[in-house]
Amino acid sequence: MATITPRNYIDGAFVDAGSSDLFEIENPATQEVIATAPDTPAAEVDRAVQAAKAAQPAWEKLPPQARATHIRQIAAKIRQNVDRIAQTITREQGKPLGLSTLEVNFTADYMDYMAEWARRIEGEIIASDRPNETIMLFRKPIGVTAGILPWNFPFFLIARKLAPALVTGNTVVIKSSEETPVNAFLFAELMAQTDLPAGVANILSGRGGSTGDALSRHKDVGLISFTGSVATGARIMEAAARNLTRVNLELGGKAPAIVLADADLDLAAKAVYDSRVLNTGQLCNCAERIYVERSVVAEFSEKLAAHMKATTFGDPMADRDVAMGPLINKAGRDKVAALVDKALKDGAEALTGGRIADRKGWHYEPTVLANCTADMAVMRDEIFGPVIPVQAIDSLDEGITLANNSEYGLTSSIFTKSLSAAQQAMRELRFGETYINREHFEAMQGFHAGRRKSGIGGADGKHGLYEYTETHVVYMQG
Ligand code: NAD
Repeated sequence: MATITPRNYIDGAFVDAGSSDLFEIENPATQEVIATAPDTPAAEVDRAVQAAKAAQPAWEKLPPQARATHIRQIAAKIRQNVDRIAQTITREQGKPLGLSTLEVNFTADYMDYMAEWARRIEGEIIASDRPNETIMLFRKPIGVTAGILPWNFPFFLIARKLAPALVTGNTVVIKSSEETPVNAFLFAELMAQTDLPAGVANILSGRGGSTGDALSRHKDVGLISFTGSVATGARIMEAAARNLTRVNLELGGKAPAIVLADADLDLAAKAVYDSRVLNTGQLCNCAERIYVERSVVAEFSEKLAAHMKATTFGDPMADRDVAMGPLINKAGRDKVAALVDKALKDGAEALTGGRIADRKGWHYEPTVLANCTADMAVMRDEIFGPVIPVQAIDSLDEGITLANNSEYGLTSSIFTKSLSAAQQAMRELRFGETYINREHFEAMQGFHAGRRKSGIGGADGKHGLYEYTETHVVYMQG
């Protein structure tokens, strides 16, 4: 595959790196450098924000349906380029090609889904205390929005930030992750082939401490929509505080799955397994700690281990059938290894895996840990890798207490055939999402939002769309 050199897309034009520092992008499966990208300095960030600001009033004046037409044009371009984009994602992020292809198609579907909201953006008419008065509540765009992205679903997350912003009449500046700027550049290239007005959507490459920080503290940004780690979310909030800029934060997770003795254990093991190997376990929403009733914990863990043992992994560009690629980088791989090593030292037992894979690239063996306890870091900290720690519980009450006792609150699940157990879980689990008898994975028409340190605000569906609006109430007499 030919080398692609990402460039910034500002005000409808591609900009050469100029004197910007460059950083290298590595294929995590092979450690081969595949591209260099610019670390965009504050002055260029400002140029992108000013372009978005200048373009916003005319964009807002367009009827929403006209804005939706532009979004659909981009979706159509994406569908014409699925293979090229999918290969790029796989090379720079490491997920199997099948999953990259799914990500690209899902991105196009998401753009179309958000475009459908154009005819459904609604205000309210409120009864007045006065005669001859009408009170009207409008939903209006915020202005310039910023999207700061992680690397795990890098192409889809552009759409998750860009599409709701544009359909509601905002303009946008996106910053890709420094791990995955190449696919974002392809997104910009496709936008440039449509007649989207200049400045409406700008895409920048850069590191967090430079480009990301400049965007977060820019006074003309009205909303920062960020997906990434808790630590960075806190830093962005601090930077945003100076200008009282709104934040929408989609942060980390440590999702519990509770498996009761009456559950369909085959279904439960497969659902937990599926979400854990997807993207090599690098998902904010997938089950990261499993609480299983003691009478079935051995049987369930064996089923899980059988799935994990059969998992193929390797370089997804060389072997298109692998179920799992590498972790994103050395730091990610070493974090997984340190959590597992510590758990093994503290009494956990590896039913399979438990070590760094003996091959080039940042691979880790698919792992199931039995005999885990609540005080182990592997049960508390986000692993973000192909590791499933299992802890025995004596009751549903205990499972719910352990599940809720976490600084994270994004997703959760329960596997049971009991209606009353499922209802108790619905009432008592304090999470943004609960899945009953299925894998953790949100739908675009839902609302993906975390509690506690998993975030502020959310994405998707009507509620996610309205995060990109602010209200304007008009009192009209006469
Ligand atoms: P990260 O926080 O390291 O980086 C995310 C982005 O923030 C990058 O673009 C980075 O350049 C930027 N950044 C870093 N420092 C910054 C600063 N000071 N100011 C502004 N921007 C800065 O996260 P990551 O490693 O890319 O992603 C993994 C994390 O993302 C995991 O914790 C995962 O759970 C989370 N995540 C959450 C969701 C969700 O929907 N809740 C979805 C995907 C990933």
